[in-house]
Amino acid sequence: MADSTIDVEEIEAVTEVLRSRWLTAGSVTRAFEREFAAALGAADAVAVSSGTAALHLAVLALGIGPGDEVIVPSLSFVASAAVTALSGATPVFADAVSPDDLTVDPGDVRRLLTARTRAIVAMHFGGHPAHLDELAAIAREHGAALIEDAAHAPVVRTDAGALGTVGDIGCFSFYSSKNMTTGEGGMVVARDPGVLDRIRSLRSHALSTSTWDRTRGGVAGYDVDGLGLNYRPTEISSALGRVQLGRLPEDRVRRRELVAEYREALAAEPRVGLPFAERTGDSAHHLMAVLLPPGVPRDQVRAHLRAAGVQTSVHYPPTHRFSHYLRAFDSARRALPVTEDVAPRLLSLPLHSRMSGADAVLAADALVTAVHRSGEERA
Ligand SMILES: *Cc1c(COP(=O)(O)O)cnc(C)c1O
Repeated sequence: MADSTIDVEEIEAVTEVLRSRWLTAGSVTRAFEREFAAALGAADAVAVSSGTAALHLAVLALGIGPGDEVIVPSLSFVASAAVTALSGATPVFADAVSPDDLTVDPGDVRRLLTARTRAIVAMHFGGHPAHLDELAAIAREHGAALIEDAAHAPVVRTDAGALGTVGDIGCFSFYSSKNMTTGEGGMVVARDPGVLDRIRSLRSHALSTSTWDRTRGGVAGYDVDGLGLNYRPTEISSALGRVQLGRLPEDRVRRRELVAEYREALAAEPRVGLPFAERTGDSAHHLMAVLLPPGVPRDQVRAHLRAAGVQTSVHYPPTHRFSHYLRAFDSARRALPVTEDVAPRLLSLPLHSRMSGADAVLAADALVTAVHRSGEERA
């Protein structure tokens, strides 16, 4: 992929693992876990095979199942709703705050609480922190868990601590499009060490000992004390992750500069909305999401941009409008006005640390032209 930051260091780290002949989760993975935890200021972390696996283990470790409800943002990737439904629980969809703030609305979360609510999922949209103070207070009052979907937000600091460590469980993704990647991979942190132990166990069939212990440590046999899965990462992915973790600080600086270039160039068309532009705190700047003016057809804008050599994407089609959720949970029965307003207007422009400022200005100019032109075509 042209926008990934894989370099000679990653190639050497992977080669070293291959030479060692130990490919499944072992000492490199353990080192990756310790380094990731240290970067967050957490006591420990568990590396897994994907961000979805991280979220699934969070739901399983909390013992969430049939009859329970989990409040999830509709404006997010489908994974948090899917793992909830897979566990037999009901995903309940919450609205976003406003067109300027696409994170989950604590006021709406409060309205959705019932006696069945077991957890609330907050997603840090584009790496911008959700309203964790309010959400943690709501969760605490209600006796529910707060799960942070921090897939967009590795090592982002807030006054309350790094994202992922503020709620009860934090889930990260290292999918290839994310700020740090291992190809496929993820990480879990948890406030309660007992919960993290359970996650570590569920990651590997709920076996009482790991393959590493049995092979290297001379431990014989094992017991099974629960229903687990195989969500282990490989040593290859963990070796990649250790190098990528070290690249985050410079990647962050570059992303911030590019976002500033974008915002300056897009000021030429004030009808294009810039979510989170007023935020001043730390962000991972994972996405350069913009809001098209109401009535401007997104498909046409995307076609104009494609013709100018600019690839765009959409984060996200609202989960509560997907066929499965409509059918299984009647999920559109309740209106989510902010999500429904912004969802057809959202567009993500290219953003990765190997872009030049000129690339960003070119993409911004192409967007401004496309918005003007689609207005003329309609007139
Ligand atoms: C990428 C992503 C996930 C899923 O992570 P995978 O590693 O692809 O399984 C979950 N939530 C959000 C918000 C994501 O962006």
